[in-house]
Amino acid sequence: MLITRTGALALTLLASCATAPSGTAVPELSSVAATPPVPAPMVSAEAFAPWLTARDILASDTTSAPRAGAAGLGDRYYPELGNGGIDVLNYDLDLEIDPVIGRLDGVATLTVRALHGLSSFQLELWKLTVESVAIDGTPADVQRVGDELLITPKAPIAGGSAFHVAIAYGGTPAGVPSPSVPFEGGIGWIHTGDSTYVMSQPNGAPSFFPCNDTPLDKALYTFRITAPRGMKAVANGKLMSVEDHSDSRTTTWRASDPMVSYLATVAVGPFEEVVQEGPRGLPIRHYFHPSIEAADRKAFERAPEMIAFLEERFGPYPFESFGSIVSNSPIPAALETQTIPTYGAAATGESVIMHELAHQWFGNSVNVRDWSQLWISEGFASYASWLWTEHTRGPNAIAAQSQAMYGFMKQREVASPADPGIENLFGLEVYVRGPWVLHALRGEVGDEAFFETLRTFHGRHDDGHATIEDFVDTAVEINGPSVEALLRTWLFEDEVPDVAEMDVP
Ligand SMILES: [Zn+2]
Repeated sequence: MLITRTGALALTLLASCATAPSGTAVPELSSVAATPPVPAPMVSAEAFAPWLTARDILASDTTSAPRAGAAGLGDRYYPELGNGGIDVLNYDLDLEIDPVIGRLDGVATLTVRALHGLSSFQLELWKLTVESVAIDGTPADVQRVGDELLITPKAPIAGGSAFHVAIAYGGTPAGVPSPSVPFEGGIGWIHTGDSTYVMSQPNGAPSFFPCNDTPLDKALYTFRITAPRGMKAVANGKLMSVEDHSDSRTTTWRASDPMVSYLATVAVGPFEEVVQEGPRGLPIRHYFHPSIEAADRKAFERAPEMIAFLEERFGPYPFESFGSIVSNSPIPAALETQTIPTYGAAATGESVIMHELAHQWFGNSVNVRDWSQLWISEGFASYASWLWTEHTRGPNAIAAQSQAMYGFMKQREVASPADPGIENLFGLEVYVRGPWVLHALRGEVGDEAFFETLRTFHGRHDDGHATIEDFVDTAVEINGPSVEALLRTWLFEDEVPDVAEMDVP
């Protein structure tokens, strides 16, 4: 994410609001726990999603007795997010959306692997009304427990098996309050009059679909969106089909690369589409709200060139498509929604586009394991904008930028970017000191070794997850032990490190 302001640094986000979503313990379910487990898996999890075997980090226990899936996964900032005992492999979202009244009705069919025998399990869903839940075609019991759904199958589900859970739901989606993001109206679903958008980082995805809302759980997605004719419906991945009915239109998108829930997006509105082609025929589709001026659309034309620029430095573009959703939302932010970033009307420009593009490598293809480690995502995306400044405006421009940022850091005593705190998640530590960590490493080891470090780090964790320690390990392996102290000082110590060339009074 990048939260923009019109001021000089254009990045600060210091206030906080709202309260954390409440987490609630799972009630006892002794009445169903005695029922024998379902013996045969309906589909093989490994056959369905072969990438699981290589990169999956959700451990499976196929032997112990069925029990309730835990209500959260213990994230350092968002401990209630995500759910124990389940690994979603695929989301099939069949959504009917009226963007003018802001109404959504749908059926979400999740293919789920049971990580242990399950007497019940939970999913996040904010506010919307659930009409029915079925597991492999059999009705299941559902209760609201705080902000979550507690789903109890007729019979326990065997550990290691995969099953389909179909949830029919609907209503007028509302934003989810987040202590990290002070947007009025919360995060997730955004309704702007004639169109709807999504910006969910970190906990807004349940505003529009039931999910295992954690960066730990990657899945594939299909979106079938029915909207009034005349409206365009956009989502992640590739545009598969458009089917016209008498007064509506169904548009299908398929995301074939693993994706976590906060990066899922659905936008519906009277968009104007611009198609481009990137390196090796990569499909690029931009969607502009009609109110976006031609001058503000211009920067998006450089997308193919920007992708080629980052491929030289970060390695091959990691996904099957790219594009943009440029909204009429007044929210001063953009989000790296996977393969197709989403922009507020005033949050555009080359620097922002480059930031969201760079997230496709760092943040999306390589995700954090825990929200406290957001530097893995934002540090790299923010530094990509510095690199683009250097490329387009020359070495003096990045020298001036790094000098200005360094002076600002010193003056504000910007602390360590590792573990910035839940209310300061999108703060200066990650967005100003974050890129400076990489700039300092680059200054120490030179361009060739620096970019090799980034490419190696990405290649090792592509379609997976990484920690800050994983990056330090890769950097030390490539550049030798001398860089460890430099990285640890920049990443973990609160005092801003001294830099010889930076002439700060
Ligand atoms: Zn970002």
